[in-house]
Amino acid sequence: MKQFMFGCNSGETLNFTNMDALHGKLAELKKWCGVNNISKMMFQIYSEILEEDVINNVCNTISDVFPDAPYVGCSTSGNITDCQLSQAVTIACTVFEFPSTQVEIYQYDLNNEVTDSITWKILENTRANSWVKAIELFFTIPEHSSTRFCDGLREVRQDIQIFGGVACSDDITSDASCVFSKNAGYSRNSVVVIFYGGSDFYVDSINVTGWKPLGRKFHVTKSDGCILHELDGIPAYDVYHKYLNIQNDENFFYNTLEFPLFYEHNGTTILRTPVASNADGSITMTSDMDIGSVVRISYGDPGTIIESIKEDSRKLYEFQPDILHIFSCAARRTFWTSKEPTYEIYPFKNISPSSGFFSHGEFLRTKGNLNQHNVTLVIAGLREGRKREMANGGMPADEKVLSKIPLVSRLATFISVTSLELEEINRKLGLANEKLKTAAIIDGMTGLYNRKEIQSQIEKKLGNIHNEKFSVAMFDIDNFKQVNDTYGHQEGDAVIIALADLLNNEHASYTERLSAGRWGGEEFMLLLNDTDVSSAALIADLIRQCFANTGFPVVRTQTVSIGVTQATEDDNIDTLCTRVDTALYKAKKTGKNKVIVI
Ligand code: GH3
Ligand code: MG
Ligand code: MG
Repeated sequence: MKQFMFGCNSGETLNFTNMDALHGKLAELKKWCGVNNISKMMFQIYSEILEEDVINNVCNTISDVFPDAPYVGCSTSGNITDCQLSQAVTIACTVFEFPSTQVEIYQYDLNNEVTDSITWKILENTRANSWVKAIELFFTIPEHSSTRFCDGLREVRQDIQIFGGVACSDDITSDASCVFSKNAGYSRNSVVVIFYGGSDFYVDSINVTGWKPLGRKFHVTKSDGCILHELDGIPAYDVYHKYLNIQNDENFFYNTLEFPLFYEHNGTTILRTPVASNADGSITMTSDMDIGSVVRISYGDPGTIIESIKEDSRKLYEFQPDILHIFSCAARRTFWTSKEPTYEIYPFKNISPSSGFFSHGEFLRTKGNLNQHNVTLVIAGLREGRKREMANGGMPADEKVLSKIPLVSRLATFISVTSLELEEINRKLGLANEKLKTAAIIDGMTGLYNRKEIQSQIEKKLGNIHNEKFSVAMFDIDNFKQVNDTYGHQEGDAVIIALADLLNNEHASYTERLSAGRWGGEEFMLLLNDTDVSSAALIADLIRQCFANTGFPVVRTQTVSIGVTQATEDDNIDTLCTRVDTALYKAKKTGKNKVIVI
């Protein structure tokens, strides 16, 4: 696989009114192809110029010289040739040297076709053609989210790599863009799909952000497609205003560009950039974000970016690609304004020839899921044939790398670490609070509610007696003093805990309607929601029988007496408790080990 570039070297910018120069250069290439017996090739055209006439002019010139060669292309926010910026229109011609290599191109018009039908066709094509190893996508800026499209390609064979970019224009805030191909010509609303494969074709792809999460987490509490309404219940704009002092003015886009939102989706880190702030406090994002996502504001830290890029360039170097296709977010270009726009991709220059563009969004399949990224660098390495012997052991050294970590990077680390520490403290405080809350309502020995809590639950039920009936049952273990006196306090405790376990709704699932509390030493109160007195008496008697049948190693058996009553509309907590206590007293007086109802 080889790459020939046109219109990219300085002084070689294409002359759009006169295509003679391009014609001449293409004719030279044609001669070369003849000599070298090349029959398979593809042209990729990247254009900062959106006008249909200009693009058609270039495409027609190519078709004049190479009538059978396919071409694809899109509008861009800057073209990349051999890791450097190239102006206006750039043409990359890829020639395939292995007869087994196959390339198929399709263009789908989004005005006529729904996403599902396109993804279905792509799936069908990969099922029918086992040679497919990679899919490259060129999208115009989608009217709606591309999530459905991405999710639709989940079923594509796992070994197929998918990568690509969203077309752009030199005004990155504009949503005008175009794609085109020999198949269907120029379009402002289409997707171009390229299938690559064959037994000698190899592909590897990576994505790099290098952006660092900064500060605290936020939950997306309200969103609708690309409109992010609320973070943690407050308007999304307020978050940018409060934490970054960014004003809701014409510079909003540029000011937020350095601080995209960072979140995990499908096990992959995704960045989303604010595009505009709206009057209602919502923010329009580059792509959609699901409600429930946990996001952080992130900061492009130059030191980290360069380090992660160096790391990933080493991986691609080892793959030994013949050519690289680079999709870098237009936002990254803006980020590096103080440097050359291609400053960060410089390390890839040592790997192989490359072409690509600054995009509105970057596609990459990772862990089986295709994601649309923003502020990300996606690079695909393509190769025909086996790896060559490496000339030297490693990646050539790169002198352009930053040597000193800038102050801003250290400050970003400081903020990140501080907020992570605060989050950890908050998490521990939350846990401690939960424990305190539990301790305040639970009896330590039995795990049942304490008297205060069960009493307050009964009081609440009394307040709602017009809507829901309920009953209460009071338990007192029989002759308990004897247990303590004869066998000791510890054995007594075991008996108390055994009855508590019977009453504990979590252990004994009589019904979800029960709520049990420890009323005193060996006395318990049971609240039976939505239960009349006869059902309550039945349940109480079941518990009584269970307890009587419980065997204790030392104490052997024990019994309990129970009073039961149903709450009336005239009751208050005192009258109700007095009545149930009277019932219990009667049970004691009339022989114990029984249930008495009043
Ligand atoms: P009755 O059948 O009339 O209920 O007789 P009783 O002996 O059970 O009398 P009463 O209910 O008045 O006695 C309660 C005893 O329970 C008094 C106290 O020593 C004992 N007690 C209270 N709390 C605990 C405790 O947490 N553990 C143990 N082991 N005993 C307790
Ligand atoms: Mg008692
Ligand atoms: Mg007792």
